[in-house]
Amino acid sequence: MSQSEHPLSATHHTKFGKRLRNINDREHIPSRWLETPIEQFIRAHNFDEPVKAAKSPQLLIVSCIEYRFRPEVPAKFAYVMRTAGGKISQLPGAEFALSYILANGVRHIALVGHNDCGMTKVHEFKPKLVAALIEQGWDPAHAGVFIEDNAERFAMDDEIDSLEREFNRLKALFKNVEIAPLFISLSSTRLHIPKWYFTE
Ligand SMILES: [Zn+2]
Repeated sequence: MSQSEHPLSATHHTKFGKRLRNINDREHIPSRWLETPIEQFIRAHNFDEPVKAAKSPQLLIVSCIEYRFRPEVPAKFAYVMRTAGGKISQLPGAEFALSYILANGVRHIALVGHNDCGMTKVHEFKPKLVAALIEQGWDPAHAGVFIEDNAERFAMDDEIDSLEREFNRLKALFKNVEIAPLFISLSSTRLHIPKWYFTE
């Protein structure tokens, strides 16, 4: 199968292709990310240059729980926060973890979105989510209300728009960290940059 036919290639998908910039060369990395842990993270994914362990934590990686994506970092490099859809600002108390990470010296965040996210299908998936909780012994009425109450918070229409909203929420909460919005195409391990980043 050629890459152009791959169903999980974001860059060859009409929904995403024109909205992402490739990073094929160091020149494609925004200058403010050069010589930072964000550049190291991008190089590991796109240039096959593994990151080396560090003496102190360098980066916070925020992403979806998605099992088809794994950040290419060694132990002793990054904190990783993962939640459905990558919207950590929607998690009550997430700022507490952030304060811990910041207190340990981290000043760079890689916010990684991805294509084919299950959170774009939450509403049709709700009955299965309720059933999963009932199977674990939850009261059916409570399970139904819980899923209904939380679905909207984690649901998204569009993965790239959702990444932009999360980027803006995190930027408003934490004004002195560098946040890099990145987008992974599940057909490969390559990171891309959403074009909206260059027009902000
Ligand atoms: Zn996802």
